[in-house]
Amino acid sequence: MADPDCIFCKIHAGEIPARIVDEDERTIAFMDIAPATRGHALVIPRAHARDLLELPAEDLAAVALASQRLAARLRERLGADGVNLLNSCGAAAWQTVFHFHMHVIPRYSDDPLRLPWVPAEGDFEEIAAAAQELEAR
Ligand code: 5GP
Ligand code: ZN
Repeated sequence: MADPDCIFCKIHAGEIPARIVDEDERTIAFMDIAPATRGHALVIPRAHARDLLELPAEDLAAVALASQRLAARLRERLGADGVNLLNSCGAAAWQTVFHFHMHVIPRYSDDPLRLPWVPAEGDFEEIAAAAQELEAR
């Protein structure tokens, strides 16, 4: 269940200190040590799972609900104007800690965060080709 080399399993076990702000049967939420904005927290499943693709559905559902709960609290208590939920799955997608986690990032109208891509209309045929490969079969 727990991975002895996993930093978030150690936080869950109380072996590494963290500021826990919410918990339930399946999840805990704690403050990110390097916050993107004021109030940035992480929601993790109690049970170790490497990433989104290995996470059991019940834990994904529990993390989603805990993230929603925390998002509401960020608006109410910290005055966030918005919230980003962010999950990175795999090193290519910026994942650095390999115990699934959802970033819950409060957003403020004057904060410095920016979209990491520049929205621009894509090539219609290329979008359609990708869609064809993606469609459920
Ligand atoms: P990732 O890059 O995998 O999406 O996110 C990992 C997050 O974990 C980063 O935002 C990083 O600041 C945070 N983090 C890494 N080590 C620790 C730690 O020891 N304690 C806490 N509270 N957060 C951590
Ligand atoms: Zn772990």
